[in-house]
Amino acid sequence: MANLHQLKKQIIDIGKLTYNRGFVAANDGNISARLDDNRIVITPTGVSKGALSPETLVICDMSGKALSSEGKPSSEILMHLKVYQLRKDIFGIVHAHPPYATAFGIAGIPLSQAVLPEVIMTLGAIPLVKYGTPGTQALSEPLTDFLPNHDAFILQNHGALAIGKDLQTAYFRMETLEHFAHIAFVSYLLGKIHTLPDEEVKKLLQMRAKSGFTGEFQPVTCEDQKEACAILEPGATLVGHPSENTSTSKSSDSVTYSAIQSIVADIIDSYLKK
Ligand SMILES: [Zn+2]
Repeated sequence: MANLHQLKKQIIDIGKLTYNRGFVAANDGNISARLDDNRIVITPTGVSKGALSPETLVICDMSGKALSSEGKPSSEILMHLKVYQLRKDIFGIVHAHPPYATAFGIAGIPLSQAVLPEVIMTLGAIPLVKYGTPGTQALSEPLTDFLPNHDAFILQNHGALAIGKDLQTAYFRMETLEHFAHIAFVSYLLGKIHTLPDEEVKKLLQMRAKSGFTGEFQPVTCEDQKEACAILEPGATLVGHPSENTSTSKSSDSVTYSAIQSIVADIIDSYLKK
């Protein structure tokens, strides 16, 4: 069973990182960890993620009822409970409003291109989840279809969500998602986006499966949700943007791909050493 004291410390540390990195403003965002089969620890409503203390964190049962603390659990607890109910392998969740990922959510653009090997390896595909009113079931319901196959999500007109086998993994996924959104934004401004060819994407997905990353990632997934699902489709254009700004790299040179393979080998090494 997880140690409550350690989980609270992790939530406080990750709250500070989330706030200091500018992934949230004021009291935005929420963080939780699974304590055992029947309980979670979650950040309270109305407290900055940069100013959490052990006594402010709230222990809740799986119906969302507070079992401890004077604080009220985050208003987004329904979204957290939905994840824990549908993904038994998940023990940590970070929800924030990082500016670039949130901007993609406002523009209605999923991060749908196979461009960065480390993102394919660690996050797989990043779907755009339909808008729902914050604090209600309408926010968590649209997640249902995506949860079995994804570990990071853009929430339309709202923010981002990252989940993991522990809190640290969930937070790193949030960082990777925001970093990727920033890079994708700048790449779009540069006007040319070279996507990885099919065979390279396939290799990365095989490596992802072997490396034990969570999520049953499939390149084309979430039936009936293909438009919103970030499909890793080489040569795909950014949704809503003119295709002439995009070029594919089916004829990419071998130097580029040996560099990519070396990056991927480093990533695998660092994860295996953990
Ligand atoms: Zn939010």
